[in-house]
Amino acid sequence: MDYWNPYLETLPRETYDEIELSYFRTMFSYAKVYSKLYQEKLKGIDHEDIRTLDDLKKIPLTEKEEMRKYQEIDPFPYGGLLASDIEKVTTFRQTSGTTGKPIYVPETYESWQWRIEAWCHILYMAGFRPRHRVFLPFGYNVYVAFWEAHFASEKVGCELVPGGALDTKGRIHKILEIRANGMMNTPTYGLHIAEEAKLMGIDPASLGIERMLCAGEPMPHATRKRLEEAFNCHVFDHIGGTEPCAWAGMCEAKEGMHIIEPFFLVEILDRETLQKEVEEGEVGVAVVTPLGRRSFPLIRFNTKDLVVKGKNSCSCGRTSKKIREVVGRIDDLRKVRGVLFSPKTVEEVIRKEFQEIEEFEIIVERRGLMDVITLRTEANALLPISSIEQTKNRLHEALKIATNLTFHVIMEPPGSLPRYMLKAKRFKDLREGDQ
Ligand SMILES: [Zn+2]
Repeated sequence: MDYWNPYLETLPRETYDEIELSYFRTMFSYAKVYSKLYQEKLKGIDHEDIRTLDDLKKIPLTEKEEMRKYQEIDPFPYGGLLASDIEKVTTFRQTSGTTGKPIYVPETYESWQWRIEAWCHILYMAGFRPRHRVFLPFGYNVYVAFWEAHFASEKVGCELVPGGALDTKGRIHKILEIRANGMMNTPTYGLHIAEEAKLMGIDPASLGIERMLCAGEPMPHATRKRLEEAFNCHVFDHIGGTEPCAWAGMCEAKEGMHIIEPFFLVEILDRETLQKEVEEGEVGVAVVTPLGRRSFPLIRFNTKDLVVKGKNSCSCGRTSKKIREVVGRIDDLRKVRGVLFSPKTVEEVIRKEFQEIEEFEIIVERRGLMDVITLRTEANALLPISSIEQTKNRLHEALKIATNLTFHVIMEPPGSLPRYMLKAKRFKDLREGDQ
């Protein structure tokens, strides 16, 4: 087994803890001086108060909402989130803004290089090597993950082929033309490429992709399997965000994801109290502190990603902490008829047991006093009309078992549900107010 950084990836647990505490204290002191957000937020807490990892609890979490507020002050456009001379900023990126005004993220040359180095760990762990010609089927715009993927691929030694400004057919032709053998995409777009290739009379497995790195949405195990079967390749997952960077990735053992230590200090906290670290196998909220990026410090950033805490050992020999799986965004969890429901469960059932279903959409509405969940599905053209009722009934039963909820299942004609180029929006909650 080889590693991107053999030393950093195989440290004893105590050494990781020591290094991370030391980096954390340095970042804490730096942020307190140079970031207006943290000058205010950390008032009254001294560097000397943080002596052990247990002391982190004394520091409040950083929420996206307060970051938006501090972004409004000078200097434009980063405001009080910037912690370096604005003339040293060399890279502008921003969040997608799907949940409100975007956060603008400044990186100096040094902090950008730090991000790229962390990303190299993710790529290398997923088996990307200089022999790979990697196709990145997106236009990058101001979104950080594509740029990180691009520059980290180069640093690892891969040959990176940017695939923006083409439609999906054009991208499939390009993959064939240049014989790309690696790809990075969202799970949704990977499935879309497979579907489109089939419509073009091309077996996706014949495209020659050996390795695929996915991100952008929680990927159920069954979706990863479906991608692996369609392309006859290895598929890996990773998790991150524009603000905290990509902080965990899957290794070749494909059993959860390694936290990229000691680049990040990651806490997985009980979602009700946001205080206590959860136990192995339990679900918690990921709270992330990037430990080496100074232009835009984040201390205990609440990612609002729900993850299952994993074990600390792995057959690959890496010794970093692991997460077993990503459950989804805390904002995506909904109470429906008193039951806590995650859209990821529906995807897991469909991708695992219903090969004939290509696309789906979940709609929750309130009719009178009742919540009604409708599942609109679309089968591929291979499903005989005579089997439609039977498939609907099987879906109804399987979802009832998996979620404890009753779904109203509708089968739509092929091609009628929307297809997504990046992240899917398959879940629509049309009820008003808090659920
Ligand atoms: Zn591993």
